[in-house]
Amino acid sequence: MHTALVICLLISLIVDAGMVVFAVTRRDRSRSIFSAALAAWLFLYCLGYLVEILCTTPEAAMAALRIENLGIPMIAPFFLLTALSLFQARLIKRWMPAVAVTYGFIMFLIVLFNDSHHLYYTSIEMVPYGGAYYIVLGRGPVYFLQQAVSVMFMLIAYGMLFTRFIRGSSKLRSQMTLFILGSTVGFSANILNVSGILPAGIDPTPFCMTIGLLLFSINLFRHKLMDIISAAAYTAVETMDDAMIVLDTDWGFMFCNRSAEQIFPQLTEFSGTEIITKIQDWPRALAPGASSGQVTFRHARDDDGANLSTYRANISQITGSTGKQTGWSIVIRDITDMTVLMSRLEELATTDPLTGILNRRQFLYMANRQLDMAQRHNLSMALILYDIDLFKKINDTYGHMAGDFVLCSIVDAIREQLRSYDIFARYGGEEFVIFTADGDADKLYIFAQRLCAVVENVQIVYEGTHIPVTASFGVVQIPPGAGFEAAMRAVDIAMYEAKSGGRNQVVMGRIAELPN
Ligand code: GH3
Ligand code: MG
Ligand code: MG
Repeated sequence: MHTALVICLLISLIVDAGMVVFAVTRRDRSRSIFSAALAAWLFLYCLGYLVEILCTTPEAAMAALRIENLGIPMIAPFFLLTALSLFQARLIKRWMPAVAVTYGFIMFLIVLFNDSHHLYYTSIEMVPYGGAYYIVLGRGPVYFLQQAVSVMFMLIAYGMLFTRFIRGSSKLRSQMTLFILGSTVGFSANILNVSGILPAGIDPTPFCMTIGLLLFSINLFRHKLMDIISAAAYTAVETMDDAMIVLDTDWGFMFCNRSAEQIFPQLTEFSGTEIITKIQDWPRALAPGASSGQVTFRHARDDDGANLSTYRANISQITGSTGKQTGWSIVIRDITDMTVLMSRLEELATTDPLTGILNRRQFLYMANRQLDMAQRHNLSMALILYDIDLFKKINDTYGHMAGDFVLCSIVDAIREQLRSYDIFARYGGEEFVIFTADGDADKLYIFAQRLCAVVENVQIVYEGTHIPVTASFGVVQIPPGAGFEAAMRAVDIAMYEAKSGGRNQVVMGRIAELPN
């Protein structure tokens, strides 16, 4: 019996030490640190117990008890922390490990000074046993308190594990089974020991707990639960502005950072390996089956669907060390501000700052494109160009500011006459152009004359002074096949004919080089 116990404990020591090494060499240190600590406390428990059953003097037995009690009180709190770190990491707060260690240390001190108060062990009796001794301990109030606290921690851990187990997917369950099984083996042994059913001096707890630890380290190894994210990256990922979501190959949820929870608040209640598309209004651009690359999507941050933000997501495959794909990472950046800035820049690049209508460059771009489209459908279009008459004189008489005011007033008056699909632009200083659909020649001429009358009749009063203005108009039809540049030349000539014809009038031009 004695030899068997010694062998079991020696095996336990090797396994526990191995587990410490295994856990500290994991990449995901934020998770593995708790398993490493748990294995270390168990190691002390086993070591103390081994010394206890090998010792031949009461002093040695007491020393052994102290070693054991360096580990024992820490086991249950660190089991809870380990369980949380693996399956509910978000609930771990910074102060928790500190409180656990402080509690364990206080318990250790109580045992250390047991001789002076006897609150932990009421009596320590050495019973000769073969060539050695075993110890029969009288259990005091603090001993039972310590046991009660351990049971409480275990029950909290079990509560959390079972809730996750029941609510989780089958994948999560398979990740949890060995973990729950392993801890149950250790927990049951402890209950047996405390209950006093076992023969005195035989405590199966450290060995059984080691078996339990072995079971869940197999589990950790199989599911690589500690290698998902490296520790250094972890902090960076948690605090970065970009949202990050890690999914398994079946698009099941594995991890997300805080920014991701802000975009998709439902993620806070997500359990492992649940399919990500369960999230209401999960963007279609990120549906399962999406391939690596970049997608842009719009998503409402607020529940009421208001405040649409624009996001750019980078979808990448995560490949394991074997080169096999192990999952997906989705990194999402809010580009709302950037798009607003871009559209502002675009506006600056395409509009005339004084009048707010299109500038010449944008006009040429849009009119050319529209002409191409019209000609593909065999439609003809029209150009109207007008230049304000004797504008130099207006500037000279009323001042440059008044001149600006005149330009804007005329633009406003003309704009009212146009349809939404007409392209209206400032072509030069006081020269404006309209690209419009062609009715027939008569209608076009009448339309231009109406614009000419509008300019003449617009009431421009600047600083109390009425400024009379007229403009000269050129008009040209662009039949299918005619080029845009030829049309511009023709309308320019027509406008100058209107000037030389006495201004404040419309001249209908013709494209010289018409197609056959
Ligand atoms: P015409 O009837 O022959 O067109 O005579 P005009 O005086 O209008 O012709 P001209 O091309 O000689 O003069 C155009 C003037 O328009 C010259 C320039 O100073 C003025 N001008 C150009 N852009 C602006 C502007 O943004 N604001 C103001 N106030 N004046 C401008
Ligand atoms: Mg002019
Ligand atoms: Mg001019």
